[in-house]
Amino acid sequence: MRARIGIGYDVHRLAPGSRLVLGGVPIPFDRGLEGHSDGDVLLHAIIDALLGACGLGNIGELYPDTDRRYRGADSRRLLEGAAARVRNAGYRIGNIDSNIFAERPRLLDYFPAMKASIAEALEIAAADVHVKAKTMEGLDAVGSGEAIAAQAVALVFADS
Ligand code: MG
Repeated sequence: MRARIGIGYDVHRLAPGSRLVLGGVPIPFDRGLEGHSDGDVLLHAIIDALLGACGLGNIGELYPDTDRRYRGADSRRLLEGAAARVRNAGYRIGNIDSNIFAERPRLLDYFPAMKASIAEALEIAAADVHVKAKTMEGLDAVGSGEAIAAQAVALVFADS
């Protein structure tokens, strides 16, 4: 069994008038993430980590932002699609680790729901998904509350 690892990163701008969804979980906040889809940076980072681990390109190739089908898309559906690609290419998902970078809101209480949501979309155990969060100590665009970013790593195993 061959192990492979992938990394993913994403950042979206925070703006009034849209919902905040992270890890597939709606989070009460006065602003949401702008984007062609629902702007779920965490799921987008995980998709890129998975695609990277398997050498299957990136989220922009799989779900082009010029494609109207993905306008306002639920990123959980996009993640399910990426996981299906990974499986079809002969890989089994080992585990996911991730960081969310956000000055506000406080996200700790939402971690269990995020892990459950991600695990369900990937068809793996919740124990194999980890979510952490950090502030940027007031520095940069995340620190000033203009954006939320996320990074993820994915371990996969090749069947052969
Ligand atoms: Mg994105």
